[in-house]
Amino acid sequence: MNCPQCHSDFTLSWKLYFRRTPFRLLCPVCGTSVRFRHKAVYYLVTLGYLLSVVIVATLVAATYFGTAGAAVVGLVVGFGIGFPVDRYLDSRLAVLELLEE
Ligand SMILES: [Zn+2]
Repeated sequence: MNCPQCHSDFTLSWKLYFRRTPFRLLCPVCGTSVRFRHKAVYYLVTLGYLLSVVIVATLVAATYFGTAGAAVVGLVVGFGIGFPVDRYLDSRLAVLELLEE
């Protein structure tokens, strides 16, 4: 990622990922709060992931393990794989911009 204020390149670490808000991120180099925006392709990939991987895995688990198994598989697949996928997409597809004062 590249800060629009100080132009430093940095990696979206787990710490930064969980500390960001849906629309703002604090640059780890200069501390400037910058706008965090997603490209349209981010939403398409995320929706595709939710519909294809999470829902299919949950439905398959429901067939074999019942409702409780489906809930566990849905949570594990949704969060256990979803967070790393989302962080990867954020680091590749997010656009950082200066906030207008
Ligand atoms: Zn910066």
